[in-house]
Amino acid sequence: MKFQAIKGVRDILPPESALWNRVEQTAREVFGTFGFAEIRLPIFEQSELFARSVGQETDIVSKEMYSFQDRDESSISLRPEATASVVRAYIEHGMQTLPGNVKLYYVGPMFRRERPQKGRYRQFYQIGAEVLGPSDAPGIDAEVIEMLLAFFERLKLKGAVLSINSIGDKNCRPAYVELLRAELQKVREQLGADSQRRIDTNPLRVLDSKLEHEQVIIEKLPRIADHLCAECRVHYDEVKRHLALRGIAYQENWRLVRGLDYYMRTTFEITAPGLGSQNAVCGGGRYDGLVELLGGQATTKGIGFAIGTDRLMLSLQESPAGEVGGGLDVYLAWFGAAAQPVAIKLARRLRDAGFVVELPAVEMKFGKSLGLADRLKARHAVILGNDELAAGVVAVKRLPGKNPASEDAGYKGVQGLSFGDARSNVVIPTRSAFQDRRGTLSGFALWSRGPEGFLAALGMTMVRSLAN
Ligand code: AMP
Repeated sequence: MKFQAIKGVRDILPPESALWNRVEQTAREVFGTFGFAEIRLPIFEQSELFARSVGQETDIVSKEMYSFQDRDESSISLRPEATASVVRAYIEHGMQTLPGNVKLYYVGPMFRRERPQKGRYRQFYQIGAEVLGPSDAPGIDAEVIEMLLAFFERLKLKGAVLSINSIGDKNCRPAYVELLRAELQKVREQLGADSQRRIDTNPLRVLDSKLEHEQVIIEKLPRIADHLCAECRVHYDEVKRHLALRGIAYQENWRLVRGLDYYMRTTFEITAPGLGSQNAVCGGGRYDGLVELLGGQATTKGIGFAIGTDRLMLSLQESPAGEVGGGLDVYLAWFGAAAQPVAIKLARRLRDAGFVVELPAVEMKFGKSLGLADRLKARHAVILGNDELAAGVVAVKRLPGKNPASEDAGYKGVQGLSFGDARSNVVIPTRSAFQDRRGTLSGFALWSRGPEGFLAALGMTMVRSLAN
């Protein structure tokens, strides 16, 4: 029997996984500078948590959740999103007593049984952040968006477009929804089956429709912007002012209602190129009533977003920013039983110094070994055979490596056995390697051949910059 991954889920393999790590690490760094800390949440929760928060009538809860009965007969669901869990945790751990607003981010998989296509999976990944606390100041909305854009900028994501909207609150939205429903009833027969159903269950969702023939009908529907109450209007105007203060460009999109029940006032979405119809890489909004709905204090407000990591990755891979560095710095080719223990120690030293080292586990013939170094796209082969061992040196062979074009041209002449002053033999050229890893350091490691012999010489030191 041959096993395959289940439909709609997939493996993320190297080297793509390196880009995933970089993206997630960048999120941690950028969000950290805005005072956010990570929350690690369970993968499954009581089904009721999602029914209550996301909404019984939403597609997510009614059609897409992976729910099952636990052995004690309680209903459990794999999380389709994480905001509900964050709010549950916030209440459960009494975080409302913490000073100021609580700022949390999460990274991890979500599960929805959707129809798989490019950018849409049944196990997909999100990086999300939430601000929970007593304040609903519009400056918070703007700062959350600023953080999001700072993250995309750090990743060099090109062509991201921010859309915003306000969908009112419990004072003004119900009347608008009824008005919308009444108008939709008039055109019911012209709408597709999904929209017809949504007239009854969730009329706002009709605005999300991408069906070609429904577009002209939707364009004529009443717009929430004309029906906001005074408080919501002021809040929305202030959000826009705070975005302007930060120099953030945005589009207003009155049809941006977001699928989930808990949103109110500010909603936003970011689209990116290269994604086809699934072009939203991030969605978010304010959800001031959610904490109360889940049993917390009525005075606690909330806002957050979730980035679709899979889609972000697709978009990054479309651009040069998606190229992953890394790869193998050193292929340590050893020949002869006596060389092996030396090679093992040398590999350890190099790894301690941050180099990526491949050490053949068994001895290979010279040609085969160096051939493998090539195929592994190692940047350097360090060669340690009987001659080298006797002389207390290693030979360094420069290989084309992974990104030959980006390599340091100035390095090209440095090859072979002896280089540098009389006391020493050059070992590992590391200008690019050091720059990769340490950002600013440049130089190369050199190991000197002292009277105490070869093994002692394995103590590598940085002696001078390659730029000299
Ligand atoms: P939502 O939680 O529905 O607001 O989604 C937030 C973001 O998650 C979206 O903008 C997408 O980028 C991403 N996303 C949602 N569902 C999926 C899915 N099935 N596959 C991949 N990404 C998704």
